[in-house]
Amino acid sequence: MDVELVSIGTELLLGYTIDTNSAFFAREAAAQGIRVVHRATVGDGPEEIAAAVRDALARTGAVITSGGLGPTADDLTKPSIAELFGRGMTLDESILEDLKQRWAKRGWPGELPAANRNQALIPAGAEIIRNDHGSAPGIWLEDEQGRWCAMLPGVPREFRGMAREQLIPRLVARRGGAVGLVVRSRTLRTTGIAESKLADEMGELAKDPLGTRLAYLPGWEGVDLRVSVWNEPADRAAQLLDDAERAIRAKVGTWIYGVDDDDLAALVLQLLRERSHRIAVAESCTGGMLGMRLTAVPGSSDVVDGGTIAYANHVKVRELGVREATLQAHGAVSEETAREMASGVRTRFGVEVGVGITGVAGPGGGTPDKPVGTVCIAADVGGQLRSARTTMVGDRHEVRQRSTQAALNLVRR
Ligand code: ATP
Ligand code: MG
Repeated sequence: MDVELVSIGTELLLGYTIDTNSAFFAREAAAQGIRVVHRATVGDGPEEIAAAVRDALARTGAVITSGGLGPTADDLTKPSIAELFGRGMTLDESILEDLKQRWAKRGWPGELPAANRNQALIPAGAEIIRNDHGSAPGIWLEDEQGRWCAMLPGVPREFRGMAREQLIPRLVARRGGAVGLVVRSRTLRTTGIAESKLADEMGELAKDPLGTRLAYLPGWEGVDLRVSVWNEPADRAAQLLDDAERAIRAKVGTWIYGVDDDDLAALVLQLLRERSHRIAVAESCTGGMLGMRLTAVPGSSDVVDGGTIAYANHVKVRELGVREATLQAHGAVSEETAREMASGVRTRFGVEVGVGITGVAGPGGGTPDKPVGTVCIAADVGGQLRSARTTMVGDRHEVRQRSTQAALNLVRR
């Protein structure tokens, strides 16, 4: 089944908002054998909306819009498309009642504002697409020839929920029982290795391994290897992905820390939990970022003890016991200092695992022997020290992000 997407919103054209809704829909739909064959983005004007939907109806007759369902004057999706289908607008009492109840429940004073009543206006003959994530329901409008337009709200949380729970199941049912051909993918997440080196180590698997397609996606967390299978029946696609994953792991498995959405911080916490270890962190250039990542994981309290932001040298000395002599001889950005930070935080917090991070995040502060991006990390696991010195690429924010990932990877190994 082929469909088209029309994203509505002047903020999308201006570049203030990135169209994540379209990307989400395309991904989710592809896994169900529904292909997005055309995407358009238009501003909030009624003529622009109508023109884009008209074109799409003429091509595929299957259109999904995002945005412009709200209560304000710039939300013109419904009337523009209703006109295209030659339908007037009618008031839907059940939506109005629901809106009134929501208003009352929130404890806001007075009656439902007139602007909100617009949300209860729907094109004549339209069906409502339930919205369990917000106030504006979606709309399904179909003509006698079976051409249809599904309108969803732009708010990403609402769009995603409705696409996944309502619209895609509806399209799958409409397409009929046939499984169809799908695009399936799996991401193998690596870290601590450059893209080129990874490709090298992959050998003959480096390009489109075992009948799959392979994309290298570098980011601050590392290089993701996304393996995809196109236009195969679902069970065959799953088999191809399994085979490719097994072959890739045999080559570069040591660099792979997770799959798909796996977060290294969560994985490290799980690893420590299994060993009944607790962790404390000593952070200089990352200023608490590692602590933030660890504590962002639900349930982290049984593993994370705490940490010290030891930005200034005197804090490294006073709070962590880093020796003046070490700072003098090697500098604050050195493996020696990182190791003393890791050991210091471990013993002072009385935990099994201590981590130290110290580096030059930039943009200033670099020297010829310690350029911007130089980061030293160390882990003290029960008195056993590991450390590394690396040069991170990217701006200040990225250097700091990469540093947290490298430190977590050191704990993992
Ligand atoms: P509302 O009821 O909130 O007005 P709406 O259906 O009218 O919802 P918009 O007003 O177009 O939706 O957008 C609501 C929010 O969602 C805005 O913050 C907007 O930036 C964001 N948004 C809109 N379209 C997209 C999109 N395609 N991808 C990501 N975010 C989007
Ligand atoms: Mg709006």
